[in-house]
Amino acid sequence: MNYISTREGTAKKSASEVILEGISPEGGLYVPESFPVLSRELLSHLCGLDYCGRAREILKRYLTDFTDSEIMAAVESAYTGGKFQGDLPAPLSKVGDAYLLELWHGPTCAFKDMALQLLPHLLSTSGKKQGSEEDIVILVATSGDTGKAALEGFKDAEGTSVLVFYPQEGVSAVQKLQMQTQEGSNVAVAGIRGNFDDAQSAVKEMFTSPALGAALKAKGLRFSSANSINFGRLLPQIVYYISAYCDLVEGEELAMGDPINVVVPTGNFGNILAAYYAKQMGLPIRRLICASNQNNVLADFMDTGVYDRSRPFLPSYSPSMDILISSNLERLLFELCERDAAATAALMKALSEEGRYALTESQRQRLTADFAGDYLDDAGTLSVIASVFSRYGYLVDPHTAVAFGVYERYLKKSGDDTKTVVVSTASPFKFSDSVCKALALTYGEGTLAPTEALAAAAGLEPPQAILTLANKPVRFSQVLERGGLEEFVKGSLSL
Ligand SMILES: *Cc1c(COP(=O)(O)O)cnc(C)c1O
Repeated sequence: MNYISTREGTAKKSASEVILEGISPEGGLYVPESFPVLSRELLSHLCGLDYCGRAREILKRYLTDFTDSEIMAAVESAYTGGKFQGDLPAPLSKVGDAYLLELWHGPTCAFKDMALQLLPHLLSTSGKKQGSEEDIVILVATSGDTGKAALEGFKDAEGTSVLVFYPQEGVSAVQKLQMQTQEGSNVAVAGIRGNFDDAQSAVKEMFTSPALGAALKAKGLRFSSANSINFGRLLPQIVYYISAYCDLVEGEELAMGDPINVVVPTGNFGNILAAYYAKQMGLPIRRLICASNQNNVLADFMDTGVYDRSRPFLPSYSPSMDILISSNLERLLFELCERDAAATAALMKALSEEGRYALTESQRQRLTADFAGDYLDDAGTLSVIASVFSRYGYLVDPHTAVAFGVYERYLKKSGDDTKTVVVSTASPFKFSDSVCKALALTYGEGTLAPTEALAAAAGLEPPQAILTLANKPVRFSQVLERGGLEEFVKGSLSL
C-alpha cells in the first residue's frame, strides 16, 4: 500500500515514510492510494477475534511495509497489560436505543489514548525501517486531550521528545492539571495565550520552517507529529468502528451486513474521518453524523456546502471540539474532489487566504450522500447530560452529550431508525465541573471536589488517573505569548 499527498497527488510513499514525516513537504496530508477491501468474509472472520486480533488484521492491510510480528508487538504493547480497563479498549453500552462506544477507558480517560498508545510503537518501527538516525521531536497543539494522551504515550520513549502547547484558557481544570503534572524525562508543556487554532497554526508553521528544520538536523533531530494530521493517528481509529460492528453482530444486536449509523462528536474531523474510511473499506455504515458544539462551522458546511471560518470562536463546555479549522477535513475534500490534488490545494488556499471556500454542486452531493451534520450549544449540552442521567442513570461527558443530543434530534427529524453507534469520547470525570453543573450538584473547594460530588451522586468510582492528580507536583506552568513558541522549542531542545 502506497500513500499520496492531498495537495501533490503523484509522489508515492510507504506507510513508514508517511508516519515518520507526519505531514507532506508542501503542506498536504497523506492518504492511502486506495482503501483495502473489507469483504463480508473478512468482516465475519474479524468478528471471531479479540480487539488485538481485529487491530492486527486491519493494520496489516495499511502497513504493508511492516512485518506481521512488528504489527503484533505494537498492537499488544498498546492494548494489553492493563493500559485499558479490563483490557477492553472499546466496549459498547446500550443507552436507550443507542449503542455508546466508550473509548475512554485508557490512561488519560479520553479517546485519544486509542491512537496515542499505539502511535509511539508505529513511529519507532517506522524510524528503524527508514534507517533514520535522528531522534524524533513530537510537537503537539492540543485542545486538551491530545496533549495529555501524547505525553502518556511517548513519556520516556527512547529517541523521542514531546513538546505540548495548549490554550491557557481553553482546557478543563483536570486537563490542565494532567498536563502540568506530567512525568517523564523527555517532555515539556506550555500554555499559550490564544485559542486552539492559534496553537495549531503556530505548530504547523514550525513544522514546515526550513530554518528550524536545519537547526534540528544539525542536532540530529527531526520533527514528527502526533496530531491527527499524521496518518498513524487515524489508522488506529479505523479499527474501533469495525470492532464495534463486530461486537454488535456477536451480541446478536445486528445481523451481518445490516447497516448502522454512526454519530461522532467532532472537532478536528479525525475521528469521524476514520469512520468514513471504515465505510470506504466496506463497513456497512449508512450515515455518518457529524456533531458539533456551538463552534458549528462543520454543521454549517454539511448544511450549505460552504466552509466559512470567519466567525467568533466560542469557548464551550466541550473544549476538545472548540475548533474552527478542522484540519482533517482536507482528507475528505480530497475524496469530494474525486482525488484531484490540484483542486484540493486550491480549496485549502482559499481557506487560508479568504477564510472560506464553497463546494461545487456535485461535490456537495457526494458530501450529503454519506454525511449529515448538526450542532448543540452549551445550554443544550447541559440539558442532555441531565436528561440522559435522569432517563437512563448513565453519565455522559459534555462531548458525548453533544453527540447524543444531535443523535436524538436527527432521529426526530429524519425518522431514520437504523441502529446507531454514538461515539463516547471522554470519561464524565474528566469534565466533572461541567457535569456537576448540568446535574445541579454543589461542591466545596479543592481540585477534586467536583469529581467527588459527581462520584457520590452517580454511585461510581472515578478513574484512578484522575484521583491521583491532586497529589502530584506541578512541573510545567509557563504561559507563552503567541509568537513565543519557537523560542520555547529552541530552549527545550537546546538549539
Ligand atoms: C479530540 C476530541 C474530540 C474531537 O475529535 P476529532 O477527531 O478532533 O474530531 C471529541 N471529544 C473529545 C473528548 C476529544 O478529546
